[in-house]
Amino acid sequence: MDLKKGQTVHLTTGGMTCTVIEELGRGGQGTVYKVDLGGKKMALKWYHIPPDEKFYKNLQKNVDAGAPSDAFIWPEFLTVRENGSYGYVMKLRPSGYYEFGQYLLARHQMKSLSAIFAAAMKICNGFKLLHRYGYSYQDLNDGNFFIRPDDGDVLICDNDNVYPQGEKSGIMGKARYMAPEIVAGGIPDKYSDRYSLSILLFMLIYLNHPLEGARVAACPCMTEGNEKKFYGSEALFIYDSQNNTNLPVRGVHTNVIRRWPAFPKLLRDTFIDQLSQEKLKNPTTRMVEQEWEKVIAKVRDTLVICPKCRQETFVDGSQTTGKCVECGAQFDITRRLVMGDRSMVLTPGTCLFIDMDNKPDIKVQTSSTGEMMLQNVSTSSWNVETPSGKIRQVNVNDCLPTRPGLKISFGTSIEGAPNAKAEVK
Ligand SMILES: [Zn+2]
Repeated sequence: MDLKKGQTVHLTTGGMTCTVIEELGRGGQGTVYKVDLGGKKMALKWYHIPPDEKFYKNLQKNVDAGAPSDAFIWPEFLTVRENGSYGYVMKLRPSGYYEFGQYLLARHQMKSLSAIFAAAMKICNGFKLLHRYGYSYQDLNDGNFFIRPDDGDVLICDNDNVYPQGEKSGIMGKARYMAPEIVAGGIPDKYSDRYSLSILLFMLIYLNHPLEGARVAACPCMTEGNEKKFYGSEALFIYDSQNNTNLPVRGVHTNVIRRWPAFPKLLRDTFIDQLSQEKLKNPTTRMVEQEWEKVIAKVRDTLVICPKCRQETFVDGSQTTGKCVECGAQFDITRRLVMGDRSMVLTPGTCLFIDMDNKPDIKVQTSSTGEMMLQNVSTSSWNVETPSGKIRQVNVNDCLPTRPGLKISFGTSIEGAPNAKAEVK
């Protein structure tokens, strides 16, 4: 039963109500309305056919637990059952974000490489926190993610299908994003989420599906049986290291053919491993989200600003000279900031991300004498030890020369690594 403009809807929380303002959109499961809740504009998803009691109780639990992070448009209030159905209230999706599927159809484009990898990082972080809370997402696909093209910020929607590990929401997800074991009839869990995460990351970065190559292109009709084969029992990565029968097809899978060799080797190696037959067939061997975060951080460490044309370019961190993919200029990349097993390439104008929060912590600047400087753009001061053992403090916005042997302690602003230390090399 549809709701009408001005209609009052009762919430399960302490006698609260909200008032319907207007309809925002209609999907397969329900209609989303803009509502007023105590003077605040929110969104109400109202189910066409009310899902069962278990679903209702699970929604109430998720409301009570709260969102794992600000990436989630999470159910904040549940309605009582009335007018033949029920629904839940969440934040309105702000403008400037577009559905992930729109990027795959080239209706929108990410503005920069750094925005693409910021989005990748935020998706990994969201799933890490979701799993840490004991949930699994279950229905991960290109319609649940909204990305802002300017900076890669991500919002994860449709969180009503989020269930505790090992419980089944009854929603099976979209075939192209479902793990092979789910296509075969299994119950979604954090391991199947990790498969879906690899698929999403691949598509975000390379703009093609990692299982859709020659074999799928040659299929005259994608029947349910074929779907079960290509995404389930016979799933085969397009760049499988042992089997080249599903390679991308020229003129069809254009994006991945262009991007695959142009993006860092570490990314290629990680996808070849994560989408190998072993990982496709053994869910528990798939990489955890924290490992993905580390891979993306390392990939970002080799994404620099070209000193000549000022465009972004990847460089090969194992080399001493970088070559700009935009203008072809060659430039020195010997100066690094080294932290653990990370080696961040320094060129003027490049931003460095020490932690995983997508906020730059360092900006590489040039002094009036042409020397490269590290500007502290983090939120706390650093303690810096010079090669001769002197300690000095570098406040927020202050700069530090890039002298080899300088050691930086980043203070408290680094999420998850309060005592992180790095050295200029
Ligand atoms: Zn250039």
